[in-house]
Amino acid sequence: MLQGVAVSPGVIVGRVYKIESILHTGDPVSLAAQELVGPELNRFDESLVRAGYDLESMIQKVEIQIGVDGANIFRSHLGMVRDPSLRQKVHALIQAQQITALSALQMVMKQYVSRFENFEQQDYFRERLADLRDVFGRIASDLIGNNPNDSALRVPDYGTEPIVIVAHEILPSQSMTMGDKAISGIVTEIGGGTSHSAILARSRGIPAVTGLASITQDVANGDLIIVDGRDGHVLLRPDPETTAAYRKLQREFIHIKDRLVANREDPAVSTDGTPVELLANINNVADAKAASSMGATGVGLLRTEYLFLSHPDVPDEEEQYRYYRQIVEAMNGLPITIRTLDVGGDKSVPYLGRRVEANPFMGWRSIRLAFEHPKLFESQIRAILRAGAHGRVSMLFPMVTTLEELRFVNRMVDACRDSLIKDGLDFGHDVRTGVMIEVPAAAICIDALLRETQFISIGSNDLIQYLMAADRDNSKVSHLCEPLSPAVIRVLGMILDACKKSGLPVTLCGEMAAQPRSFLILFGLGLRKFSMSPAFVPAIKSLLSKVTTAQAERFAHHVIQLKTSEEIKHYLSERLKEISADMQLFESNS
Ligand code: PEP
Ligand code: MG
Repeated sequence: MLQGVAVSPGVIVGRVYKIESILHTGDPVSLAAQELVGPELNRFDESLVRAGYDLESMIQKVEIQIGVDGANIFRSHLGMVRDPSLRQKVHALIQAQQITALSALQMVMKQYVSRFENFEQQDYFRERLADLRDVFGRIASDLIGNNPNDSALRVPDYGTEPIVIVAHEILPSQSMTMGDKAISGIVTEIGGGTSHSAILARSRGIPAVTGLASITQDVANGDLIIVDGRDGHVLLRPDPETTAAYRKLQREFIHIKDRLVANREDPAVSTDGTPVELLANINNVADAKAASSMGATGVGLLRTEYLFLSHPDVPDEEEQYRYYRQIVEAMNGLPITIRTLDVGGDKSVPYLGRRVEANPFMGWRSIRLAFEHPKLFESQIRAILRAGAHGRVSMLFPMVTTLEELRFVNRMVDACRDSLIKDGLDFGHDVRTGVMIEVPAAAICIDALLRETQFISIGSNDLIQYLMAADRDNSKVSHLCEPLSPAVIRVLGMILDACKKSGLPVTLCGEMAAQPRSFLILFGLGLRKFSMSPAFVPAIKSLLSKVTTAQAERFAHHVIQLKTSEEIKHYLSERLKEISADMQLFESNS
């Protein structure tokens, strides 16, 4: 049994499917016959030509949207694609070793990487390495897409057995394409409780464990695996008795989830009738549909970066408008909060430049990018305002740290409204704007921000990492990224008090909103709007129906006086057991 970090609750018994990186350098794959060498050389050349065309059109578009600097990044990619020595190296390997173009490309990539890693100016070359991976990845995807017999990225069919993805990490861009696949569990080597694979797993309601350092080497495709997302256990090739015991737990989890979904039409109220809004965090149109079917009464957070991360180049205003409008319409009159682009940190788009930063989460991310790329930011604000003509839309700014920043973005929104009027384009005149509180500086000076904005959304995932000085993606420090710690609870209490005094609406949209013990405390502290992965709405609604406001307030009052996370977690686990024993299946990291 392996011990990892539990990041998405539930239990699953399934078969392993390893996602190899597209640039994985496993054993080279031989061509079946010498006669296939010629066609393989042609296939590679065709992929190079297509990659070149794609890059040319990207350069044009990025130049308009972002400017010359962004476009230059793709010019350098084009240079690499058209570099005769790349073509010649790959051709030589295909001919000499009679291997596939993909294998030859992967071998050449490996040579480049080891050369780069020996250079002294590490930072500079790490950046170039990221570009190189992009270029090779682009050619490799084309090669795979070209060959229908290559199953490298296809999820296999294990009959009725659930599939558990095992990977080093799941990239944000991959998480979008994995959405339609029948995946029942996720295990990764790196990542913490609010990393992208964790958020993906939680949004689909599937058990997940991270932080298992060498798991990809310990398993083979098709191995039996158990993932216990409650306490972070992963069991490889378990014996029949253990398998039977976990299958029983899995059935219970599925049964409880199915039973709870029946409450989707019920109002979200506590035992004594206090109403609460349970909203959804979504990443795309499919999630918007899931939100309605799970009984969410709106969207509290649309993470727009997934549109940018999965887009072949950069989405322009028109494309963004159509995308947001589709989501607004899918919500059928329910309110929706659209967050502006939140990249940087662990998510990057090549056209904004890939700087290697010593502390990317404390660096050039999120709203900070907007100041340097006003054109890109304006196209997004205009698109959101225009989508506002089709429903109840609000706009949310992430990572706001100072009042100056808030004033800057507010001025931009005003300018965008004026320009839309001038252009004669229809837009939502009642689109409200709000600020995410996810940086301690903003939490401390919240009174000033409250006077110049219209609503607040607490981004507890980031707020906790910055407050505890513990990287949210680093499983080594995941014990510190703990919502149920005295410092976090005090700061949340302070934010909620300030919002109450000002009368402005406040939502919490971090992962803790859907964790039963944290929910009890937040409700007890007075929070009435929660935004979470759609899959958790039924369970939280059921929990709410079993607790009174006074009871939750008593819990909060008691917890505020406790001095350690352990005491808080223990106390709340006991209370949760008394209220609803089933809910423990919905906790991670008990
Ligand atoms: C947060 O930080 O809590 C949040 C909701 O935003 P994200 O997880 O996308 O950073
Ligand atoms: Mg955040």
